[in-house]
Amino acid sequence: MSLDVEQWLLRRGVSTSDVAEIVYSLQRPYNPDLTVEECNDSVLAVLGKREVQYVLFTGIALDELAERKELPQPLQAIMEADESLYGVDETLALGITNVYGMIGLTSFGYLDKVKPGIIRKLNEKGKHVHVFLDDLVAGLAAAASARIAHQDPKANRYGCSG
Ligand code: MG
Repeated sequence: MSLDVEQWLLRRGVSTSDVAEIVYSLQRPYNPDLTVEECNDSVLAVLGKREVQYVLFTGIALDELAERKELPQPLQAIMEADESLYGVDETLALGITNVYGMIGLTSFGYLDKVKPGIIRKLNEKGKHVHVFLDDLVAGLAAAASARIAHQDPKANRYGCSG
């Protein structure tokens, strides 16, 4: 199923390496030996969690239904406007970030504000609806980053499977 979720992300224009780049930028200041490959491994480990996959499937499905104008009103109109008071997109994304606790929450807030890399691209108005995906990617990057922060970089960096 982890492969399924990677396919869903790719279909929406997001690769694990896009997310790994963001994780790298978050964690590199604290960990000078960190590599982008390790960040990508951390993203894959987070994507391996069933509760993370369920959140991603749900948010991506809503984006795709909105794009095809298949949602009931008033939800369709709210999604098309990317109404800033909607907030369910951020709430859902926290379901990913919370897997790794408070450190992830801080990073999520930062990413939501700064919108680096792929998050900014998703947030630009275009023909696609990414109401959920920009927040889900921020949540995923924050979780993968927190996962690295939770590891003891000397004793356990390669051994942790969490
Ligand atoms: Mg959003």
